[in-house]
Amino acid sequence: AVRVRFAPSPTGFLHLGGLRTALYNYIFAKKHQGSFILRLEDTDQTRLVPGAAENIEDMLEWAGIFPDESPRQGGPAGPYHQSQRLELYGQAAEALLKTGAAYHCFCSPQRLALLKKEALRNHQTPRYDNRCRHLSQEQVTQKLAENPRPAVRFRLVEEAPAFQDLVYGWSRHEVSSVEGDPVILKSDGFPTYHLACVVDDHHMGISHVLRGSEWLISTSKHLLIYQALGWRPPHFAHLPLLLNRDGSKLSKRQGDIFLEHFATAGFLPDALLDIITNCGSGFAENQMGRTLPEMITQFDLTRITCHSALLDLEKLPEFNRLHLQRLVGTEAKRRQLVEKLQALVEEVFGSQLPDRAVLDPAYVERIILLRQGHICRLQDLVSPVYSYLWTRPAVSQAQLGATPETANEIARRVLGLLERPGMILTQDVLNGELKKLSEGLEGIKHSNMMKLLRVALSGQLQGPPVAEMMVSLGPKEVRERIKKALS
Ligand code: GLU
Repeated sequence: AVRVRFAPSPTGFLHLGGLRTALYNYIFAKKHQGSFILRLEDTDQTRLVPGAAENIEDMLEWAGIFPDESPRQGGPAGPYHQSQRLELYGQAAEALLKTGAAYHCFCSPQRLALLKKEALRNHQTPRYDNRCRHLSQEQVTQKLAENPRPAVRFRLVEEAPAFQDLVYGWSRHEVSSVEGDPVILKSDGFPTYHLACVVDDHHMGISHVLRGSEWLISTSKHLLIYQALGWRPPHFAHLPLLLNRDGSKLSKRQGDIFLEHFATAGFLPDALLDIITNCGSGFAENQMGRTLPEMITQFDLTRITCHSALLDLEKLPEFNRLHLQRLVGTEAKRRQLVEKLQALVEEVFGSQLPDRAVLDPAYVERIILLRQGHICRLQDLVSPVYSYLWTRPAVSQAQLGATPETANEIARRVLGLLERPGMILTQDVLNGELKKLSEGLEGIKHSNMMKLLRVALSGQLQGPPVAEMMVSLGPKEVRERIKKALS
């Protein structure tokens, strides 16, 4: 059975890169009726960020990526926090010590720091000199008496095994000649990433490891650990990096990349999932507007290429518009959008709302239906240009730029127009009728009449076309605003 995992470290909030790794794992699992597991790699206790673990779980749920097993959800392979699995890592280290695949390291932090300093002074990459590898059994026994909890290092003696990465093909990264023996268990009993990752992938029955390509070079090392423990390794598929459009690293500097930011800015999870898969590979075609269920059926791991995915976030509003329109098209989703917009209107205009009428679900729904093709986010409907939809303007005579008599006359005619039997308010009809109406008026140009109507309806000199405002507001509200301002 396919079992995959997303294994973030709670050293930061969930960002787009992490979301993408989680998403590929999720759609791969679902495509093969497998399980998607969330494991929190929290063994580096010094780097934990408060709230990050919560945020990762919250944001995955927000995105619609629900793990089958996770810290929150539990599951048969738990616990799903590495910090709660120390015993397993201890056992594995013990097993490796027993066969001589690992050894105790008694080097003091001072000695290690010195080694590092020296290497840097000689323009060399710092590496451990494997000194403790060569201690005799007596020396070890003696040192253990003084320091009963030394670190454990993995002996990198074997030649690194080659492996078939499902994305990068045959790979092999020399380890023993480039680095010193790595610490796998620290003296405080916490494992380092390499050991913890191998132990957990094994005990959690992970079949495929899909992770960022930055881990590709560590895989040979992991394979040596699998080998030393006598375990069968999973398949590996390393995912190319997600970069900015210009090829630079996706980082905070290029604007906010944390999911929470997009969620509060009113972007739809579907739009984000779509844009981060759209810029990469994994599908026969790159089409916009793919939904999560469609991704599951269309995803094909063999189509992932090693090219980095270049993300153009400037296109996100377009993706969002597309997904918003799709949601508007489904009744149940539309109802949710209505509720969301009602809440937004309350939030933004709360104290200025003239009455509850503007929150009437039928009115709110009509606005969404009318404006859906013209907005990117639901939030756009509470921006200043659209405030006329939710609040009534206070219009002074001076703002109108016409004599009371002219204003009166315009009001009389527009009201007459609205009451005309069989009158259907569409923008085209209104534009034609308003044109005719101004032609019959003495002493006021069409453009001035429109300006006056705009002020009467919105209190603004600029904004959406008058006919659009009339259609959006509906005849009853238009009548009231015109009467109030002009007559
Ligand atoms: N904890 C690692 C990370 O934060 C996981 C790497 C892996 O998936 O093996 O990326």
